[in-house]
Amino acid sequence: MKIFNTLSKTKQDFIPLEENKVKMYVCGPTVYNFIHIGNARPMIVFDTVRRYFEYKGYDVNFVSNFTDVDDKIIKKAIEEGVSSDEISRRFIAECKKDMEGMNIKPATKHPLATEEIGGMIEMIKKLIDMGFAYEKNGTVYYRTRKFEEYGKLSHKNLDDLRSGERSLLVTGEDEKEDALDFVLWKPKKEGEPFWESPWSEGRPGWHIECSVMSKKYLGEQIDIHAGGEDLVFPHHENEIAQSEAANGKEFSKYWMHNAFLNIDNHKMSKSLGNFRTVREISEQYDLQVLRFFMLSAHYRSPLNFSADLMEASKSGLMRIVNAADNLKFLMKNAKNEGMTEAEKELFAKTDEFVKGFEKAMEDDFNTADAVAAVFDLVKYSNTNTNEESSKEYLKALLECLVKLTDVLGLIVDKQEDILEEEIEKLIEERKNARKAKDFARADAIRDELLKKGIILKDTREGVQWKRA
Ligand code: AMP
Ligand code: ZN
Repeated sequence: MKIFNTLSKTKQDFIPLEENKVKMYVCGPTVYNFIHIGNARPMIVFDTVRRYFEYKGYDVNFVSNFTDVDDKIIKKAIEEGVSSDEISRRFIAECKKDMEGMNIKPATKHPLATEEIGGMIEMIKKLIDMGFAYEKNGTVYYRTRKFEEYGKLSHKNLDDLRSGERSLLVTGEDEKEDALDFVLWKPKKEGEPFWESPWSEGRPGWHIECSVMSKKYLGEQIDIHAGGEDLVFPHHENEIAQSEAANGKEFSKYWMHNAFLNIDNHKMSKSLGNFRTVREISEQYDLQVLRFFMLSAHYRSPLNFSADLMEASKSGLMRIVNAADNLKFLMKNAKNEGMTEAEKELFAKTDEFVKGFEKAMEDDFNTADAVAAVFDLVKYSNTNTNEESSKEYLKALLECLVKLTDVLGLIVDKQEDILEEEIEKLIEERKNARKAKDFARADAIRDELLKKGIILKDTREGVQWKRA
């Protein structure tokens, strides 16, 4: 398996630190609002990476944090007149709902920065003792010049950066020894959340969070550290400086970064007013469509979000779902149980699509080509099945399709089961509402089902339903 490593700027063979195990850390969102579709890209991409490792039989320990203390959270809390804690808790819950809609597996652990402050203070103390950090008036800075490999991830010309940053130094930070030194701990301002520390009542800088949470839940060395490309510098560069200085070991073997998602060929930003949340998209589309859209491009290519592309994704996904539905429909009516010799031969040919899929995924997770392999299988399945096909053959084809779509996190087989369960539940609820003479509720349930294309018929034997 090859992974493009930002550290070496080349595709490298994946060799795990421990056989059959992957330790992976993905920088999570700052929770001060609903997540936007840009944030959804790394979530979907790295969930797919995880799923592929699992498909290959790896045991994946997947850690992804929520940054729940930050200037933006504090600002929002002040605007609303509530605590920062309330804001972050609210948007963590909302983020988890969006993640579920996009079929993103919950991480093995989702640590919260505010619950790991003790560990951060410990690491900062250690860095000060080792000479990698210094305190000035209650603020602790990392001494970048002391870490010789500083800049190895972002491959930047540090001298140019230093002179650029010099002229941009924010007031209050001119006490730094070097323009590239960054904050590990900062004193509180009036009204801000704070923790006690040896240096001041205050809070940690953003970068130290990930170094500490990654170490606590995955150990000093991990296989993969990932996030959007905007995190390469300074966030990940600073994480390397902190972790490698404190632990004396290489932090992460592979660094993966997704390219940005633009919207109608523009950068998505609040000031341009072209900001789209995942929640808004979910009002128009099943979030599976958003997931499919994200995977239609390679994760290192910039991706443009547009109404047309979403429509194309919707029909693309429908083609796959329809193929699965078709197989299920044929299975229900199939007369013959076992595979014929001819079917065995036909089924053996699907191996080619599975191989194509794997080859694409092994090449730095080329989901665009993997999706193409799924389409090949869909076409093959549609043209090589009919009413005469045996149940075993149809089932094998469906399982093959589900196996591949599951790696991409696309649900093609569960919809009907979930829906049926949901329908039965609502019919039962309607029955109870009618018994209790709550006809308004009963009618509302009928309407709700109708909107989903389900027609109810009251008969003497009970309620029957059919799809419109
Ligand atoms: P933030 O909450 O800004 O720290 O972002 C959380 C994650 O989303 C990080 O991995 C970012 O790199 C990523 N991200 C933010 N905006 C975009 C975007 N427009 N396209 C792709 N990834 C993004
Ligand atoms: Zn991080």
